[in-house]
Amino acid sequence: MPCRHLAAHHAGCDSAFTVDASRVTFGTGSLPEVGDRARALGMRRVALITDVRLRALPWFAEVAASLVAAGLDIAVFDGVAIEPTDASLDDAVRFVRDARPDGFVSLGGGSVIDTAKIAALLSTHPAPLRAYVNAPVGEGRAVPGPLAPHIACPTTSGTGSEVTGIAIFDDLALHAKTGIASPRLRPTEAIVDPRTTATLPANVVAASGMDVLCHAIESFTARRYTQRSTPATPTQRPMSQGANPWSDLGCREALRLANAYLVRAVVDASDREAREQMMWAATLAGIAFGNAGVHAPHAMAYAIAGLVHQAGIAGDDGRGGSLGARGDDRARLQFAPAGYPSAPIVPHGIAVGIGAPAVFRAFASFAPERHLEAATLLGADTRDASLDDAGTLLAHAVIRISRAIGLPDGTSGVGYTADDTADLVAGTLPQQRLLANAPCDVDRECLEQLFGAALGYADVDAR
Ligand SMILES: [Zn+2]
Repeated sequence: MPCRHLAAHHAGCDSAFTVDASRVTFGTGSLPEVGDRARALGMRRVALITDVRLRALPWFAEVAASLVAAGLDIAVFDGVAIEPTDASLDDAVRFVRDARPDGFVSLGGGSVIDTAKIAALLSTHPAPLRAYVNAPVGEGRAVPGPLAPHIACPTTSGTGSEVTGIAIFDDLALHAKTGIASPRLRPTEAIVDPRTTATLPANVVAASGMDVLCHAIESFTARRYTQRSTPATPTQRPMSQGANPWSDLGCREALRLANAYLVRAVVDASDREAREQMMWAATLAGIAFGNAGVHAPHAMAYAIAGLVHQAGIAGDDGRGGSLGARGDDRARLQFAPAGYPSAPIVPHGIAVGIGAPAVFRAFASFAPERHLEAATLLGADTRDASLDDAGTLLAHAVIRISRAIGLPDGTSGVGYTADDTADLVAGTLPQQRLLANAPCDVDRECLEQLFGAALGYADVDAR
């Protein structure tokens, strides 16, 4: 076992946690509340951020009509890229600078909501994008002041972006997914209307549902907030503050709901109860991870998704050398799942879910009670189990659900081989914000072992 117990903190450890949450309106038919809510926040001219697919759906018309009925001007930006890049974000920022809105409404999945967060940030507090990006990738500069109000209306039951202060994008020059994290990025309000998921393809529900599951398990098994050093000042306490009693509440309920409803929501689009309950699970898990933080499966996912995305971009524009030594055989990294228009792509929830079982199996000994409880909440029979079984039981529970919703088997299922381990480890190591939140210390050797174990789970009998 190359992963190590946490180094003892020499300075004092923290003894408090902070609860941070957006105002959330949840319910079937709640979307048309957006106009009144935007006006109440003082908005007069709204940047309505979405993507071309959503613009053609009735939810967009509902939101636009509600804003207009409330007497607001709207300027529509529908150029959000699935899996935003620094280049696609530039377009959104330019749009916002020209449109000069005093508030934002975002309608879409995590890509749309994250784009709105960054557009609001850079149009309010101009700086090069990388200035605000988490260190060591960027400067990690603090967001200097409040942003214009933002109402986020999610249309997938997954990312939880509507209730978090985190925005993720691909840095094309660095060949890496990275992000900006600040409480100031958190949307002012979220309006969560489960009707919007009725039109989602099964594959999208599966991927986003696995993301929900992992948000809950990772936040539940993250290092405790009492294992992190006390911040220099209270306002510097990180959002990824570690597992705490508030986040635990959301994690437990999200896991219970995902166990009951995720497979149903994927296999039957007309199962309104299942899709509604998964939307609520996504909201709870989002609030939980926004207050606790996720860890290694998400750090690994950014490398897994990033290399495939880069392979696609390199293939598109002929920049064949941009992948270094692996450039020649990038053809195998062309994963193209049904339901996603811009391939190759490893959707975020798939990228997280294919590495997660390897992590839970390897890390369980550092927090065995929590891994065992998570396995129980996911339906594993833990009556005769000992704490030594916790990692295997939780890994198998996640694999069982992954198979039932049709996810690829491990990283080999999206085209990776053992030859890619060094690249994947190199892409994961910079994700220190996430790795530092794991229940054990995670170094290069630990990640090599995890990526080796995550290649596939075909030998697992997970019934
Ligand atoms: Zn996620």
